[in-house]
Amino acid sequence: MPVRPYTYYDFTLSICSTCLRRVDAKIVFENGNVYMHKNCREHGFEKVLIATDIAYYKKIRNYNKPSETPLHFNTKTHYGCPYDCGLCTDHEQHSCLTVIEITDRCNLQCPTCYAMSSPHYGRHRTIEEVEKMLDIIVANEGTPDVVQISGGEPTVHPDFFAIMDIAKQKPIKHLMLNTNGIRIAKDFEFAKQLATYAPDFEIYLQFDSFKSSALEQLRGKDLTEVRMKALENLNALNLSTTLVVTLQQGVNDDEIGKIINFALQQKCVRGVTFQPTQVAGRTQNFNPATDRITLTDVRQKILDQTTVFKPNDLIPVPCNPDALVMGYALKLAGQTFPLTRYIDPAQLLDNSRNTIIYEQDDALKEKMIDIFSTGISVDRVEENMKQLLCCLPQIEAPGLGYDNLFRIIIMRFIDAYDFDVRAIKKSCVHIVHKDGRIIPFETMNLFYRDDKETYLKTLQQERAALPV
Ligand code: SF4
Repeated sequence: MPVRPYTYYDFTLSICSTCLRRVDAKIVFENGNVYMHKNCREHGFEKVLIATDIAYYKKIRNYNKPSETPLHFNTKTHYGCPYDCGLCTDHEQHSCLTVIEITDRCNLQCPTCYAMSSPHYGRHRTIEEVEKMLDIIVANEGTPDVVQISGGEPTVHPDFFAIMDIAKQKPIKHLMLNTNGIRIAKDFEFAKQLATYAPDFEIYLQFDSFKSSALEQLRGKDLTEVRMKALENLNALNLSTTLVVTLQQGVNDDEIGKIINFALQQKCVRGVTFQPTQVAGRTQNFNPATDRITLTDVRQKILDQTTVFKPNDLIPVPCNPDALVMGYALKLAGQTFPLTRYIDPAQLLDNSRNTIIYEQDDALKEKMIDIFSTGISVDRVEENMKQLLCCLPQIEAPGLGYDNLFRIIIMRFIDAYDFDVRAIKKSCVHIVHKDGRIIPFETMNLFYRDDKETYLKTLQQERAALPV
């Protein structure tokens, strides 16, 4: 009998990468890779590489956990996902991290920018608009886990510190500033004022490459000196910082290990987040056919390019396992101790308790007691292990603090190519819209940003006209 060249594994819904209409999609395994097959009546067949590691792709489902929802939803489910954001009642995860864009403007005009920002694009939000958006986040979340002040480039906002003061007064557990670092590099007094918002405050610093050619390609200019000066100032203040690397195949994916090793040497750096380019907004030096990089590709490159992390140190994040990989380590006396390997996936989930447990594993407890320090109670160790499986853990142990934690995150924002309705419902990084909606980061950039909503309305009308 004729045999297909692939193994059919699953079925889902995707969107056509040209017209963004919802289409059926198959997930298949072929030659060691995972592909999505989809077919648009108007634009034809698409075969998209979605993972380069079948075993890891299959393992993702083992890390799923019962969904945590927001306190209330902002839209009803009507046209079908992803045309109802949000968050609509069908969404399956609350906002682990909410982005608030206080300006459209930026002091750069990067060739890679999901928001199309530039020095003259759009406008700054008023203080009143920003406070309203913060209140929307608090209404949805109660005590939001992480809120990220973003843009454009938020530090160009004329009322930047007034906004920071307002944000700091809200019941937000951890506040972040997403920045290209130019102002931090140029103005130490500015950096010092930022440091007054610590603790529970962190800089999310753009840090893509050590190569001027890669920076030119991604950012439009060589920012090497700016990056180093910004880090020098942040180190001087020991202001918690995450390095954020926008990754593009063939541009900077050869530097993953070098960036991790460099980050481990920086006093202020608590981790590195790798974000493969989402095909959305301004992607000028990007060819989707050759330049997309999958989450499993990035994970493998971390394993190939560093000696610190082994395969069981880089595991799916239960909030949104399709899109997030995490690896945690402790930095102690100049040494790095990976932690995530001690989590046993077979014992991760206890649905009846809606929590993650490992209580049954006495050997694991002993190992963690050794690592966390002598004298720490078993209860404390258990609490720390549960915290590790959240997006932003706090380590509590005698003599240890956030300074001792090092976190690797891979954050793959799905785009119109690898879009999977099953996975998008678990998105946990959201953007607050000034009209009160909370919209997943991925769908915001595809459907809901600026004038994109005009086309979205056409898609919604088409859906509404379908027979029930
Ligand atoms: S992505 Fe979430 S909020 Fe948006 S339509 Fe789908 S389920 Fe609703």
